[in-house]
Amino acid sequence: MRRDKAFVWHPYTPMDAYEAQDPFVIARAEGVWLEDVDGKRYIDANSSWWVASLGHRHPRICRALAEKSETLLHCSLAGTTHEDAAFLAEELLALAPPGLDRVFYSDNGSTAVEVALKASVQCWAQLGMPQKTRFVALDGAFHGDTLGVTALGGVDFFRRPFANIIVECARVPFPDEEGYARAFDAIRTLVEREHGSIAAVVVEAIVQGAAGMRMYPPAYLRDLRDLCTKHDVFLVVDEVFSGYGRTGPFFACEHAGITPDFMCIGKAFASVLPMAATLCTKRIEAAFRGGRERAFYYGHTFCGNPLGAALAREVLRIYNDEAVLENVARQSKTIEDAFARIGASGRVKSVRSLGMIGAADLGAGGYEGELGWKVYAEARKRGAYLRPLGDTVYVCPPLVINDAELEELTTVVGDSIEAVLG
Ligand SMILES: *Cc1c(COP(=O)(O)O)cnc(C)c1O
Repeated sequence: MRRDKAFVWHPYTPMDAYEAQDPFVIARAEGVWLEDVDGKRYIDANSSWWVASLGHRHPRICRALAEKSETLLHCSLAGTTHEDAAFLAEELLALAPPGLDRVFYSDNGSTAVEVALKASVQCWAQLGMPQKTRFVALDGAFHGDTLGVTALGGVDFFRRPFANIIVECARVPFPDEEGYARAFDAIRTLVEREHGSIAAVVVEAIVQGAAGMRMYPPAYLRDLRDLCTKHDVFLVVDEVFSGYGRTGPFFACEHAGITPDFMCIGKAFASVLPMAATLCTKRIEAAFRGGRERAFYYGHTFCGNPLGAALAREVLRIYNDEAVLENVARQSKTIEDAFARIGASGRVKSVRSLGMIGAADLGAGGYEGELGWKVYAEARKRGAYLRPLGDTVYVCPPLVINDAELEELTTVVGDSIEAVLG
């Protein structure tokens, strides 16, 4: 603890407040459980930053990791390839919406989106439209933390310090149920007027995670698909959080039945290793042919890493063999009912749920609010790790959570909110 306080700079953490308390030291994890150094167990209510969809240390993941380490830990994809990178790409495309045709690997969600941005701009230039360089993103959007994708971010609190140095991005309203017509009008007007300078519209599929688990109707994705097709603007759909069954179907795009031009995946993709991918259409990849100067000069050191690729393939097999999406369908109902009850109690401002996500807004403070942190402290005492998004308390547990564990988690959430709000 002393060394952590002395030497580690934590992400998304006001360090003064952090250092005033004892750190939460995790010693081991298994299934939906985190265990601290004192042996106390906590349900991992957010799948450790939305990653551990199959829970922690799934036995088949551990075995796949050990087996792969017998033959190949690292090689680049620069002029070489390996079995798992090739098979994984084929397997992903078979699951993805029809029309996606190529897989570009990288190593985290931010870079998966970054790839789509750079490929969009270069692609348009090589198709003879070099003036198409701008991006459009939604209010409340979160697409990662590199300097490039920071421009897309619509959570002002995160973007503010960099406002003067980020690339240009047009911002449009979030399409909530009531404001849908107005929100779609705004993006339609913008794209109709300025498509000649727009490279791509970038959206999270169906749910904005970091903005506080905000959901929008699938009709928006369908209408956006038609709009982008009509005006020849790429549609980039970020499934880094929403993919892999989090919202019900394997990809959240399936709620709308659309195929984006680029689809970005990460987080649950390779279970617990940093690995991401950007899928794109044949038209896009084809624009990079026809001469050395037309190639995509982009790549991260660990892209397509053999260990990550082997795990990503095992993840797909587990989803299939263990019927993970059937458990999602079943447990989603429990989450929906639990949050409806929290809403009906009249203590909170609003509640919502979709698939394996349930959220309650306790106040109007957004990410800067403090109420969620009070609930977090209560939940810690009761055996759940319930890191909030400011005033929003949410769960997005491992998709493999069982009935008893989910019952326990929803009880802790209800009791902790009650303890704070009375
Ligand atoms: C987490 C997240 C990212 C960024 O992924 P990193 O692996 O943290 O770089 C991008 N988009 C969405 C929707 C995310 O939830």
